Amino acid sequence: MMEWGNSLIWPALASAVAMSAIVAARYVLTSGGFAWLTRVRHPQLYAGLDHQIRSEIGWSMASALLYGLPAGILLWGWDRFGWTRLYTDAASYSWWWLPGSVIVYLALHDTWFYWTHRWMHRPAIYRRVHAVHHASHPPTAWAAMSFHPWETLTGAVVIPALIMTIPIHVGALAVVLTIMTVMGVTNHMGWEMFPKVLVNGRAGNWLITASHHQLHHQRNKCNYGLYFRFWDRLCATDGGLGSFEPQRRRARAVARDDRHPDRDRRAA
Ligand SMILES: [Zn+2]
Ligand SMILES: [Zn+2]
Repeated sequence: MMEWGNSLIWPALASAVAMSAIVAARYVLTSGGFAWLTRVRHPQLYAGLDHQIRSEIGWSMASALLYGLPAGILLWGWDRFGWTRLYTDAASYSWWWLPGSVIVYLALHDTWFYWTHRWMHRPAIYRRVHAVHHASHPPTAWAAMSFHPWETLTGAVVIPALIMTIPIHVGALAVVLTIMTVMGVTNHMGWEMFPKVLVNGRAGNWLITASHHQLHHQRNKCNYGLYFRFWDRLCATDGGLGSFEPQRRRARAVARDDRHPDRDRRAA
């Protein structure tokens, strides 16, 4: 009996640890990549934020560990017991389900995120759980997974729960995870990478990019959505698009201050 238990526990644990390492590596590569791009496009944007960035990286690494646990165990269970609704043969379902499943997954993830996010803005919960994420003021590309462990847990269960209940092709799941990762990073990086014609156009009325989430970090009481503005519009919590100018002004002031000859004397 004991031996049987060990033969299940250790491979499951190994899979969870491996998945945590993959999530951590994915975070370092994606956030690091976009932080580098930020340096190229807006050289001073993160000036004076070293302390905040260190804290963002610390919380994010802890999040990587927590995200990896359910995901790794699920991957092991899929391989061993067929726990999930993942499929590898594209012909198993109709062709339209390939893009259809991506949209359904994103819409359900967005719904879960919107309502748990609004709940986390209730004052008592906010102080204990969500304040860590809002300590990123202004946010940077490193803030993508900067969450308190309780907040991370609310996010870590949603994709595994969907994978266990709604069929999805592994390729379609890869698309969902890529969108999730890239948008999580770019929505926080402090500038808009998508063209104005998209952000200010008809599609931008319904899609969330950095311009929308920036305002959430500025005002703390609007724009709760993740991918789509649907719930924000329906529940009248949509505050429109934010401006990156305050962040740029702050960066210019810090950079100017750093070059001031009296800087060290004033700091002392
Ligand atoms: Zn929030
Ligand atoms: Zn945020």
